[in-house]
Amino acid sequence: MSDYNVIVIGAGIGGLAISALMAKQGRKVLLLEQSDRVGGCCSTFEREGYHFDLGASLIEDIQVMDWCFQRLGTTLAQEVELIPPHLIFSIIFKDGSRMRYPKSIEESAQEIAKIAPEDVKGWYDFCKYMKAFNDAAVEGFFVKPANTLGDVVRMFQQTPTMLKYMPLFNGNYQAVLKKFFKSDKIRESLSYQCFYAGLPPELLPGLYAVIPYSEHEGIYYSKGGMVAIPAAFRRVGEKLGMTTRLNTLVKKVMVKDRRALGVVLADGSEITADLVISDINAKKLYLDLIGEEHLPSIVRTGVKSYEYAMSTPTVYLGVDYDPPLESHHTLATIPMEEMNKYWWDEYEQGRYPAQQFGIISCTTRSDPDLAPKGHNIIILTMGPGPYKLDGTTWEAEKKELLPKIIKYYSDRYIPDLEKHVSVAEFSTPADFEKRLLSPEGAIYALRQDVPHSICFRPAAKSKSIKGLYLVGASTHPGGGVPVVTASAMNAADLIEKYEK
Ligand SMILES: Cc1cc2nc3c(=O)[nH]c(=O)nc-3n(C[C@H](O)[C@H](O)[C@H](O)COP(=O)(O)OP(=O)(O)OC[C@H]3O[C@@H](n4cnc5c(N)ncnc54)[C@H](O)[C@@H]3O)c2cc1C
Repeated sequence: MSDYNVIVIGAGIGGLAISALMAKQGRKVLLLEQSDRVGGCCSTFEREGYHFDLGASLIEDIQVMDWCFQRLGTTLAQEVELIPPHLIFSIIFKDGSRMRYPKSIEESAQEIAKIAPEDVKGWYDFCKYMKAFNDAAVEGFFVKPANTLGDVVRMFQQTPTMLKYMPLFNGNYQAVLKKFFKSDKIRESLSYQCFYAGLPPELLPGLYAVIPYSEHEGIYYSKGGMVAIPAAFRRVGEKLGMTTRLNTLVKKVMVKDRRALGVVLADGSEITADLVISDINAKKLYLDLIGEEHLPSIVRTGVKSYEYAMSTPTVYLGVDYDPPLESHHTLATIPMEEMNKYWWDEYEQGRYPAQQFGIISCTTRSDPDLAPKGHNIIILTMGPGPYKLDGTTWEAEKKELLPKIIKYYSDRYIPDLEKHVSVAEFSTPADFEKRLLSPEGAIYALRQDVPHSICFRPAAKSKSIKGLYLVGASTHPGGGVPVVTASAMNAADLIEKYEK
């Protein structure tokens, strides 16, 4: 008899949600996390009284998360205090001019009219088209398993309206923006969101162009920092009987005759289980924790062909003034064509200039209690950073790069920033890899282009190892806090069906 019915590796949102769902199914669950906290990419850490979000800084599509909490016998609203930021985001364009997107579609149209009246109609058409796609996708795509080609066919049979949106799956992000908007500036204002999904406008599938619309359905911050969300899953799961063990690194998944039998920890101890569920990077899971010797050769080749998602160097700043930032999120943008050029000429060449663009999160705009009174938090989540730098290392560059980045942001985006920094921490792709054991510092585990999507992404129910399931950003539907919550619901359904 096994020690547990279920062992879950990794307490990211996906791991927490599936652990709680498994406990709800009446199974004896052990959740193992290598770090000293839960949440993974969606967590919060403290330095000298400032509380910084490690990765995720907002959620949207909250109904998906609510469905998950409902399955657990509660609701999202009961478990997490959500704060809606008063603006969706502000923009600082490359030319220094500014713009804002309020929540209301109409008010956003008024802002667009100030810059490009010719694009107001395009904005309304874009919102109408994307609303219909979003409505279909949330139920018809996110919370549906995509384990096999058959699942994908069923997905479209059950929600046939999705077929209307095939051009979004075949085309790219850039083409969608070009179809709806004429002005380069309006296109620039809606283009940074492609890096929310990890690729530049010309490489990212068009379906992700839903993001600049779906944010208008509502974005939320959680009081106390993003860690409030994983903390809620942990609390609810533990009430249902799951056990969480922090500072516990899983070294190996025990496999015999192509069946998962449990795990081996860093100290050599073994824990057995009927089912093993992984919330860690799938490529690492299969190649390192399971081992190539347990994989059929075709699977081995397939797994090796997966590419890791991009990484995002991040600067965490505690400041002793009120910075001139009106929104929770300000996007420091560059034109779409320059984003593509940056990808090929800098990122792909292993270069990382200090002249950066990206998201400026001022989380104290939503929750002032995250910093000492009169102080604020600024997090610079910048353009994609290569894992390997050309001719140098992140360790060698980090110290000199940080003041250069702060100066650049101070001169260009956040006046006087340089004079008011009391705490500064720079997380490079190498740091991110060390912290969360995320290979190459990948922020969404694996790339999110068509060859890495839907039934081409590693399957939630492993096809090569019995008793092994996957949740989190590595499996369908991909990265994002609500999205990985959906992956946990999909896995729970499969387990209920196949593992009585
Ligand atoms: C910089 C950044 C910004 C983001 N912004 C947003 C946003 O604003 N909104 C949004 O919705 N999403 C955002 N995301 C994406 C979102 O945070 C992630 O997709 C999601 O949180 C990933 O959850 P996960 O369950 O896949 O696992 P992860 O968060 O990757 O967690 C995996 C866990 O496994 C642990 N682990 C790894 N190896 C082992 C091992 N061998 N043994 C034990 N434990 C192990 C890790 O320590 C980690 O805690 C962002 C991500 C990043 C990185």
